[in-house]
Amino acid sequence: MQLMLLGLPGAGKGTQAERITSDYGVPHISTGDMFRKAIAAGTDLGNEVKAYLDSGRLVPDELTIRVVRDRLEQPDAQEGFLLDGFPRTLPQAEALDETLAAMGRRLDCVLYIHVPQEVLLARLTGRRICKSCGATYHVVFQPPAVAGVCDKCHGELYQRSDDTEEAVATRLEQYAQTAPLVDYYRDRGLLRQVDGQRSIDDVYADIRGILSDIRA
Ligand code: ADP
Ligand code: AMP
Repeated sequence: MQLMLLGLPGAGKGTQAERITSDYGVPHISTGDMFRKAIAAGTDLGNEVKAYLDSGRLVPDELTIRVVRDRLEQPDAQEGFLLDGFPRTLPQAEALDETLAAMGRRLDCVLYIHVPQEVLLARLTGRRICKSCGATYHVVFQPPAVAGVCDKCHGELYQRSDDTEEAVATRLEQYAQTAPLVDYYRDRGLLRQVDGQRSIDDVYADIRGILSDIRA
């Protein structure tokens, strides 16, 4: 399956992606995760993108598109993938169409997790991520069994540098560039909207229903 998650920052894309990748075996391709790993590793890419991530601005299209093209060519992405956080602009969406067409592939479905903007600040400022395995938690909505420690691998949990009120405000402004993608994919008959303002389990139950329709 060739899938995409779309939604505001904090809508729950990464949280649902963990479940989808584990149940359906598709690799999770998150541009945000790829950039954060590059920053942590101190690579050239990391140095180039750090200021954008810290402030909440979008990384330039050309660079982002190059990173995703390379990733889609990797062997593990040949049977399917789950894109998360890409595309975020119309030029990125058009570049993805071209890349997939050149590979003789196409998207099966775009899962649009819809949440009202009011819930996002609390979700993002309470978010915690495992340093070792990348699992997502929330101090109130999805707390680990032991505060600060990952349930899955016992790694240390940290707060993303862009989950501050200031960077969140910038990220929400930047979403104006992503919002047109909802119509872009709706017009192509690919969009499936999910109500993201319910429990994590309920949102996932909807997603499973949609994915079983697609596979039928
Ligand atoms: P995104 O990847 O879309 O930016 P995340 O999946 O990282 O969003 O979720 C943002 C935060 O909100 C995380 O701390 C996560 O634990 C929490 N969260 C995700 N889904 C829900 C939900 N349905 N209800 C409450 N909190 C949620
Ligand atoms: P995310 O993990 O999806 O919340 O992304 C974190 C940050 O990475 C964003 O605020 C941007 O700075 C950068 N980023 C991630 N994906 C993209 C993208 N597709 N285009 C541009 N910047 C991106």
